[in-house]
Amino acid sequence: PLNFKEQDPALWGAIAHEEQRQEDTIELIASENIVSHAVRTAQGSVLTNKYAEGYPGKRYYGGTQYIDVVEQLAIDRAKKLFNAEYANVQPHSGSQANQAVYAAFLKPGDTILGMGLDAGGHLTHGAKVNFSGKLYQAYSYGLNPETELLDYDMIRDLALKVKPQLIVAGASAYSRTIDFQAFRDIADEVGAYLMVDMAHIAGLVAAGLHPSPVGIADVVTTTTHKTLRGPRGGLILSQAENAKRLNSAVFPGTQGGPLEHVIAGKAAAFFEDLQPAFTDYAQAIIDNAQAMADEFNKLPTVRVVSGGTDNHLMTLDLSATDLNGKQAQELLDSVMITTNKEAIPNETLSPFKTSGIRLGTPAITTRGFNPDECREVAQLIVKTILNPNDETVLAEVRDQVRTLTAAHPLSALN
Ligand code: PLP
Repeated sequence: PLNFKEQDPALWGAIAHEEQRQEDTIELIASENIVSHAVRTAQGSVLTNKYAEGYPGKRYYGGTQYIDVVEQLAIDRAKKLFNAEYANVQPHSGSQANQAVYAAFLKPGDTILGMGLDAGGHLTHGAKVNFSGKLYQAYSYGLNPETELLDYDMIRDLALKVKPQLIVAGASAYSRTIDFQAFRDIADEVGAYLMVDMAHIAGLVAAGLHPSPVGIADVVTTTTHKTLRGPRGGLILSQAENAKRLNSAVFPGTQGGPLEHVIAGKAAAFFEDLQPAFTDYAQAIIDNAQAMADEFNKLPTVRVVSGGTDNHLMTLDLSATDLNGKQAQELLDSVMITTNKEAIPNETLSPFKTSGIRLGTPAITTRGFNPDECREVAQLIVKTILNPNDETVLAEVRDQVRTLTAAHPLSALN
């Protein structure tokens, strides 16, 4: 057998360095997680060799008898996990899941109403630079400027005005519980479909720790790699009556051959998500995020948007510090704390700068961090941001980060 390391040292080296980076850093990107050995094994398996256009039992290629077993396991487990009548596990990503849903329910030129990017929505919810804002007439709702919360009266007023064919609920950076029934009522009043993109909170929904949109929305999309702790990919859930149009919107509508190795990774993750231990994990994510937010509230100069969190993430408003979001992200990178810049409500800076950073606890919770350690992480973040040019302080922070990461080695995970 060829030795990967010797044959291709450039590629092997980059992967090895990334592995070490993950070991050495406190990972606070809210959309990331650390998958199990089972998920990685499934995803790295021979299933990547196989073409299987179509669906279980109805393929366009021979030799798919075992692929069908894999995909059916993923479908059945997804349905059980979310108590859904229908699941499509083929979307290559969250964006492609959303693309397929729009293709299934809308015609180009139809009107959609989703959450604005600066309020915490996703690109695929109608941003001008994305297909969703180019192919459809897209309008966006924001947050109540005073409370920094979703304001269902404001959303209703906007929906009555722009008369969307489809409303999108869900976000990439919203730290509070979303009232899906309120969205359903608005959609019904204006005669729109309701799509919920629960990508960020899907693991909390699976664990029963956030109200489920399944059965309330016409269709629910998610990624599988965030709080669900699976491989990178997408998933669509709906009622049985929408099965045909959603299946054909995914294949042949917007995709070709499914990534069956990734689908196997999804099946492995859903198996894990169905175990009682996953509920404990999901609760720990929330406990850790709330401990971190509470600590920030006690510390000077930084401000948690909306004052706290009900889920796995929060946005930190840095307007009162000397740093913008980009500078804070880069400074924190230098002390081995990984975050991402994030717009705050009523943002005045460009998306390349922003006035905030987004922080989430799914990955460090998988690693085994407890609420006290999350409070310490909050202290380290503020200490760093308030002393951007003090090398002594930054060195101290690096030491404390090293102690925390060493206490929770990735090799201890299975
Ligand atoms: N929807 C939401 C709410 C997201 O936050 C994201 C990713 O960040 C996506 C969709 C897109 O997922 P992907 O990056 O897999 O295309």
